[in-house]
Amino acid sequence: MSAPTCRLCRAELVDTFVDLGMSPPCESYLTADQLDSGEVFYPLHVRVCARCLLVQLPAYIDAEDIFSHYAYFSSYSDSWVAHAKSFVEDAVDRLSLDAGSFVVEVASNDGYLLQHVVQRGIRALGIEPAANVAEAAVEKGVPTEVTFLGEATGADVAARHGAADLVVANNVFAHVPDIVDFATGLRRLVADDGMVTIEIPHLLRLIEGNEYDTIYHEHYSYLSLLTTQRVLAAAGLTVVDVEELPTHGGSLRTWSMPAERATPPSDAVASVLAAEAAAGLHSLSGHAGFARAVARVRNDLVEFLVERSRRGETVVAYGAPGKGNTLLNHCGVRADQIAFAVDRNPFKQGKFLPGTHIPVFPPERLAEARPDYVLIMPWNLRDEIAHQLHDVRSWGGQLVVALPQLEVLPNIEGTQP
Ligand SMILES: [Zn+2]
Repeated sequence: MSAPTCRLCRAELVDTFVDLGMSPPCESYLTADQLDSGEVFYPLHVRVCARCLLVQLPAYIDAEDIFSHYAYFSSYSDSWVAHAKSFVEDAVDRLSLDAGSFVVEVASNDGYLLQHVVQRGIRALGIEPAANVAEAAVEKGVPTEVTFLGEATGADVAARHGAADLVVANNVFAHVPDIVDFATGLRRLVADDGMVTIEIPHLLRLIEGNEYDTIYHEHYSYLSLLTTQRVLAAAGLTVVDVEELPTHGGSLRTWSMPAERATPPSDAVASVLAAEAAAGLHSLSGHAGFARAVARVRNDLVEFLVERSRRGETVVAYGAPGKGNTLLNHCGVRADQIAFAVDRNPFKQGKFLPGTHIPVFPPERLAEARPDYVLIMPWNLRDEIAHQLHDVRSWGGQLVVALPQLEVLPNIEGTQP
């Protein structure tokens, strides 16, 4: 079999960024009667292109399989809706949008963001591939087209609705296999004097925080500002400004304009590029250390679990986020090392984690089982969750995180029961 090719520049991909072995799709939670059947595992082998430096996972699973019936409704998360509202306020001010303006959002989900545009009397259109999610947006009064964005669909939408003053693509850019066709679709949608804004998890933060559990099959590209600029340039768009955001462990929000009308890039663009260059992200060799850091995280977690098992101590997991499954499968964990996970999401309760087959229970199970250690899976919320779990201390239990490195959390004064 020949080597995969780069989705940006078509060079052969021979260099490994990190190889996490085989994993099932991270959102495929199992029911009890599926446990005695086979389970499909796909490679999680992330490459870095020697020519253009795009860090990428080959499309082992078809995007249409994953996103056409996507069950996630953004409005379920209060913090996302608040994030979207403040984004809209910021964009309206920055671009002086008014009743004559037109805003298009790609991967508009259930209208969680565009509802704030509509409320301001600004014309809006969503583009969303999952029909059931798009239906929820239409019920909110957000006109939505059910399709995947590419060059052809972008041109078609612009021909029927007009070109947009603002095109928004938040947290979707990294999730499209044909990223150049998608970016070209953005260019087709936007007016010649319009603006395209994109939010992406920042590769620099992924590396700094050892956030390797954010690698999963639906996440095809791991972008720096440099590689984002290169993808957008291939579609005729120029990055003119960038903001750093705390979301998803550290994200970038880029603002781009059609190349022929672009203003000079802001100081923020130069400053983020300089930070990436200093971290080695603008050279192939600078990507080499990540696999070693990941191996260290795995060794520490496996060693911790083996030692607890030898001592007859119990470990359970708090939270069953999809991304936790990358970590657990990479570490080869099974239910004899982590007895169960608890999660507040009723959809996950009574099910089993993909690959590891660890059962998921409601949070009340913690107090019944009184485990010796609770491993907090959503490490980005560790302080908030440690506070919620202060009861664990009452039976002598301890809280642990695996990322960015294994740590048994100190018993904080004032959180005693
Ligand atoms: Zn390339």
